[in-house]
Amino acid sequence: MGIRRLSGGPTDSGRPTDGVAGPGGAVGAGPAGLRDARGRLLRDLRLSVTDRCNFRCPYCMPAEVFGENYRFLPRKDILRFEEILRLARLFVGLGAEKLRITGGEPLVRADLPALVASLAAIPGVRDLALTTNAVLLPDQAERLAEAGLQRVTTSLDSLRPEVFARMSGGRGQPDQVLAGIAAAERAGLTPLKVNCVVQRGVNEDDLLPLARHFRGSGHILRFIEFMDVGTMNGWALDEVVPAREIVDRIDAELPLEPVDPNYAGEVARRYRYRDGSGEIGVIASVTQPFCGGCTRARLSAEGELVTCLFAKGGRDLKTPLRDGLSDETLLKIITGTWSARTDRYSEERSERTGPRKAGERIEMYRIGG
Ligand code: SF4
Repeated sequence: MGIRRLSGGPTDSGRPTDGVAGPGGAVGAGPAGLRDARGRLLRDLRLSVTDRCNFRCPYCMPAEVFGENYRFLPRKDILRFEEILRLARLFVGLGAEKLRITGGEPLVRADLPALVASLAAIPGVRDLALTTNAVLLPDQAERLAEAGLQRVTTSLDSLRPEVFARMSGGRGQPDQVLAGIAAAERAGLTPLKVNCVVQRGVNEDDLLPLARHFRGSGHILRFIEFMDVGTMNGWALDEVVPAREIVDRIDAELPLEPVDPNYAGEVARRYRYRDGSGEIGVIASVTQPFCGGCTRARLSAEGELVTCLFAKGGRDLKTPLRDGLSDETLLKIITGTWSARTDRYSEERSERTGPRKAGERIEMYRIGG
C-alpha cells in the first residue's frame, strides 16, 4: 500500500523570506536578513555551552577516546555567559530568530537557567530550545521553563537497556530518559521531540517499539540516519538505515502518510499516523540531503562560528571579542563569514563516492548535532 501525500500544513511558498534560497536571493544583508553565497538566510543559531557530557555515545564521543583522563577544555577557554549573550544578540540582530542551546550536554553547565533567562530576553528571539540527553531534566526542567526556555529535544536510541547502554557508552538508563521527558512535559517544555539515531546492526529493531511507545503521547519521535559526523565514529554507508526503509518498517504496522513541512528548511521530513495518533519525523542527511534549505549557524563552546555540522573548523570570535573589539567589527566578521558560506556537505557526500577524509571534520560534541 503506497503512501499518499496529504495537502496538510503550510508549504514552501518560495518567498525569499522563508529562509530558503529564493530567486534573486542576493548574498549579504538584505531586507529579509543575511544571506550566504547560496542565498540561504541566517535563521538559526546553535549555541554550544560546553564540550563536556555525561554520556559517551559512540557516534559522537566514544568512551575509548573520552576516558576518565580525557582533558576537556579548561574553563578559561569556554565562553562566559556574558560573552555568549553578546554574540547571540549580534546574531539575532542579523536575523537568527531561533536559538538552540546544546553542548556536549548543556545541562552539565552550571547556572544554565541564568543564561536561558538572558537569551529569552533578547528582542527578536522567536524560539528558544535546548537539546539534551534528558537524564538531568528532572532536577532542572522547572527552573529552565521559568527562565524562559520554550521547548526541548531529547534523544533515546532504544528502550532496551542493553542496546541503550551500547549507544550511550554505558551511561544512563532508558528509564532515566523517560523520567526526563516526563519532567519536561510537566514543566510545559513542549512540543517535545525525541531523536533516535538509527544504526544498522545496532538498533534498527527498536524503531517499532519506540514508535508504539510514543504514538499518542503528543511527543514527536524523529529517526536520524546514522551520519559521518566528526572523525571518530567509524561511519560506514552500509550501517545507514535509509529513511525509506525506516518509514516502510513503521508504515507496515502503523500506517503513515507524509505531511508538508511546518516551515521551509525544516530538517525532518514529517509523517503522521493515519489514525491521527500523532506524527514522526525522519532526518535523512545521507539519503535525502537538505543543504539547500540550511539556515543554521553554530557557535562552539570556545567561540568559533561554524557554518556546517561537517565543517573542517570555524572562525574564531572569542579572540576579537576578548581583545575588546567593537560590536561593529564582530558584525563584520560574522556577516563576512556567513556571506561567504557555500557549505553543502551532505549533498556533496551523496554526489561523491563517500565521506570526506577523516580528520577533516569538526567533532560534533564541540558544536552539538
Ligand atoms: S551538511 Fe552542512 S550545509 Fe548541509 S544541512 Fe547539514 S549543516 Fe547544513
